[in-house]
Amino acid sequence: MKINVLDTTLRDGEQTPGVSLTKSEKLRIAIKLDEIGVNIIEAGSAITSEGEREAIKEITKEGLNAEICSFARTLKQDIDAALSCDVDSVHLVVPTSKLHIEEKLKQTKEDVLKQAIETTEYGKDHGLKIEVSAEDGTRSEMDFLKKIFNQTIAVGADRICACDTVGILTPDKSYIFYKELSSLDAPLSVHCHNDFGLAVANTLSAINGGAKQFHGTINGIGERAGNSAIEEIVLSLNTLYDDYKTDIKINQLYETSKLVARTTGVYLQPNKAIVGENAFAHESGIHTDGIIKNSSTYEPITPEILGRHRKFVIGKHVGSKGLKQRLNELKFNYNDEQFKTIFNKVKYLGDLGKCVSDVDLQAIADEVLDIKTEAKIKLEEFSIVSGNKVIPTASIKLKIDDEDLLESSVGVGPVDAAISAVKKGISDVADIKLEEYHVDAITGGTNALIDVIVKLKLGNEIISARSTQPDIINASVEAYLSGVNRLLENQDKN
Ligand code: MN
Repeated sequence: MKINVLDTTLRDGEQTPGVSLTKSEKLRIAIKLDEIGVNIIEAGSAITSEGEREAIKEITKEGLNAEICSFARTLKQDIDAALSCDVDSVHLVVPTSKLHIEEKLKQTKEDVLKQAIETTEYGKDHGLKIEVSAEDGTRSEMDFLKKIFNQTIAVGADRICACDTVGILTPDKSYIFYKELSSLDAPLSVHCHNDFGLAVANTLSAINGGAKQFHGTINGIGERAGNSAIEEIVLSLNTLYDDYKTDIKINQLYETSKLVARTTGVYLQPNKAIVGENAFAHESGIHTDGIIKNSSTYEPITPEILGRHRKFVIGKHVGSKGLKQRLNELKFNYNDEQFKTIFNKVKYLGDLGKCVSDVDLQAIADEVLDIKTEAKIKLEEFSIVSGNKVIPTASIKLKIDDEDLLESSVGVGPVDAAISAVKKGISDVADIKLEEYHVDAITGGTNALIDVIVKLKLGNEIISARSTQPDIINASVEAYLSGVNRLLENQDKN
């Protein structure tokens, strides 16, 4: 059975405390959501502001496959605002609990019912699809919920939704609650919040109970503890159940998650299911050994189906097989004696409470194997102009195989300008991509030591490189060049 996905990253997700997206950010996310097969995109709440309306309009203008929806209250002005943005549908939210009706709205049930019917009729008259949604539905009287739904369905509501607005369902209650509503005469949606960490479980139970559509956000962002995470529900439906399918392209979920994290500034805990950095990382020797023999020993799904890669982390729990695998990936050749020394050094660092990064492992292996790298590309000199009302500009002189090369570039800041000048300079030598750039101030104060770690990619090979010094631009350029030189050297070994 096909389950439809209503993504509310741009509405409920944007209500995450501290998150506000620009027009172009919303559009970029909407295009990506459409690309991965989301059926309905709740693009925002048209009544909110002029900027919000402009953002929704940009999205509706894009001609995406997905149905574009706006949040609306049961007010004519909300429907008019939605219409002015050319949306296909509204998510019409009707508070249904005694608490919301009496304390928040200072109204009666009769008022609420009347407005819901009138607004549905008004929207239908103007060609909108209407999803009637009971706010705080899970704390409302079932009879009243049914009354609202039946009477709005009678005047044309296309779908109904009951919201677990404060996340108080349990999976058992969710099944019973949504099963009861699934017998009504319109497709039923489930909308869960994660206050007790149960949003995904409750959503799955609701689908089992008969909901045909679920609401969720990428990475589970949203108010308070957030909404149900689309990537977790989709993967669960796909892997743990036999009967349900979605249109979502699973192999693009990871990059979608990264896009949303980057754009909203809401970064993920490493152990977040499916899309967290550690979701496919292994450190312990026993696990690593099992994984290398057969990945299903310690992974329920392979990372590749998400467009991800498995990661072996080197640390105190590493086993010899895992360490050998990583050293081989980093293209080191070693004999048994040398391996033993490297292994002991890694364990020693681990016992000191240190995490051994790729950069550390490379340094250990270089030392043990007595490797002195002859850098192919050397930095001869560089200068930067930066300041107020000046376009940051960098000029550099590199020596590549004893040939001098001059290059310059502008950037959004001095680091960007410098790296982009270096990139231009080496573009003929290799097509190297910067995957990650990370900077830390190690000690306090403005004279702190700056630690820059970069992750670079050449073909299929990814390596990390580091530089630590007081000057952030120097550190960035050096880390970048040392990574480039290592990639080029490894390429020569192949
Ligand atoms: Mn919500």
